[in-house]
Amino acid sequence: MTQTMHGIAVSRGIAFGKAYVIKDVDLTFDTYATSDATTELARLQTALDQAESDLERIQEKVEHEQGMSNAAIFDTQILVLHDPDLMNTIKKHIEADTYSAEQALYEATSTYITLLEEMDDEYMQERASDFKDIMRRVLLHLLDIDESLPQNISENAIIVADDITPSETAQMDLQFVKGFITNTGGKTSHSAIMARTLEVPAIVGAKNSTTNIAHGDFIIIDGSTGEVFIQPDRATEEKLMKQYKIYEEEKASWHALKDKPSQTKDNHAVDIVANIGSPQDINQVLHHGAEGIGLYRTEFLYMESYHLPTEEEQFEAYRYVLEQMGDKPVIVRTIDIGGDKKLSYLPLPEEKNPFLGLRAVRFALQQPEIFRTQIRALLRASAYGNLKIMFPMIATLEEFQQAKSIVEEEKQSLKQHDITYREKIDIGIMVEIPSTAILAKQFAKEVDFFSIGTNDLIQYTLAADRMNENVAYLYQPFHPAILHLVKSVVDAAHEENKWVGMCGEMASDLTAIPLLLGLGLDEFSMNAPSILPVRHLLKNLRKTDMEQLANAALTLSTAAEVEQFIRREIEL
Ligand code: PEP
Ligand code: MG
Repeated sequence: MTQTMHGIAVSRGIAFGKAYVIKDVDLTFDTYATSDATTELARLQTALDQAESDLERIQEKVEHEQGMSNAAIFDTQILVLHDPDLMNTIKKHIEADTYSAEQALYEATSTYITLLEEMDDEYMQERASDFKDIMRRVLLHLLDIDESLPQNISENAIIVADDITPSETAQMDLQFVKGFITNTGGKTSHSAIMARTLEVPAIVGAKNSTTNIAHGDFIIIDGSTGEVFIQPDRATEEKLMKQYKIYEEEKASWHALKDKPSQTKDNHAVDIVANIGSPQDINQVLHHGAEGIGLYRTEFLYMESYHLPTEEEQFEAYRYVLEQMGDKPVIVRTIDIGGDKKLSYLPLPEEKNPFLGLRAVRFALQQPEIFRTQIRALLRASAYGNLKIMFPMIATLEEFQQAKSIVEEEKQSLKQHDITYREKIDIGIMVEIPSTAILAKQFAKEVDFFSIGTNDLIQYTLAADRMNENVAYLYQPFHPAILHLVKSVVDAAHEENKWVGMCGEMASDLTAIPLLLGLGLDEFSMNAPSILPVRHLLKNLRKTDMEQLANAALTLSTAAEVEQFIRREIEL
């Protein structure tokens, strides 16, 4: 009989496939005194050989997909496997201390890890993570654990995991990924955003999915309702197959709007632009007829690399995006690292509340060399298209002024070196912290544009972690407080003749769009697959009617009232 479970629907579409369950593995081992050192040494050697061939395989794949420099990290790890001091210490533990191979490996490697971590040298501290990786890999072989890893997926599958991080997605062969289910997360956790960008149906916050679903189970997920069907019966499968076909037909009909302008029934024009995470996303952006890029999340460039991307590597990425988009605007957001976005090669201090910590522009201003490298790459690339620069997580006017003056200084330095760049580059900010939304009037005098980042603005306004499914009920885009903030940002900007976009997920929510149009939003930035359905919806709305709708919504008291009101007024 079909078993069902539920989660939060975050990416539309229906997917059918075998479950690929990614679980944290248990690496605990028994400690025992061995009387047979020869057997333990032979077990150790086999595990070391297996680990080495794993590394060679991964290295080959990385080299093929990402180039030599990223593949080089695996040379360091292979060298660790041949480190004579380490190997002698492990052997001594087995022969003299009668440790099992597992315990000998663990004790010897842990000593090295502690030593490296305590060193004052950043390079050495980073080597500790190589030793940790190696220890884990060899232990997996000693314990004969077959770990299901995202990078090993080689046939069509629906991934079931506790969470899926952006770096795991980067390692997956996406042609095989037909859907995602995760135990944790909410509508705007980065796994959800990625799923929408990849046009992969997804459900997050499906608690216990990794225990309820077995590796290899046939499952169906409905990314519009949040339903998961485990080992479905024939009738269920047929019903969902029908819905799948209807959705595919609807998608095909939107395609007629690809090269049409985005305007309402009463001829009010807006811009519908795309959010991207990497230059590869451009194909999709062009395929779905975006009128520009409203948010290029550059931190993925840093996350998908094994080292800080050089100025040259960044320049190439930015230039490619700008050239591909021709004279259409491309808003590049400067590095937004921190929160749930981490860099393996640049360990940041552990923070109790990373979303309230050293993130985004705060990080950039504290690491000026990293920031200046990015700005130089951007300025050089500006000669190739219509670049606009945007700073994330601005909380104070001083932060904006400091970041902007770095751009000005780097322009001067390029000028002195006779390097070309575009003189007029608009500089804007993301409005994602309530202090900035409240003070929009003052900001509007200094910035060229605003882009409202509702993913963070909602979490900070309602004090509800966007990643935490336990408080997902408080994560309310339709909360009147959010609407009032959006209105005051739009009004403040228009007063100064500046424009306002929105690049948070709310901008592609079909229920929110009538309201946002009525509040006066000028630009809607979203995952590329949402562009055409949104263009289709706007075509059927009148701006003047939506202004009345928005004014009425602003008088309501709860998110539920607002949502019900819109649904009643607009047939969606
Ligand atoms: C936002 O906060 O709305 C946003 C677009 O940025 P991110 O989701 O990358 O934090
Ligand atoms: Mg944000």
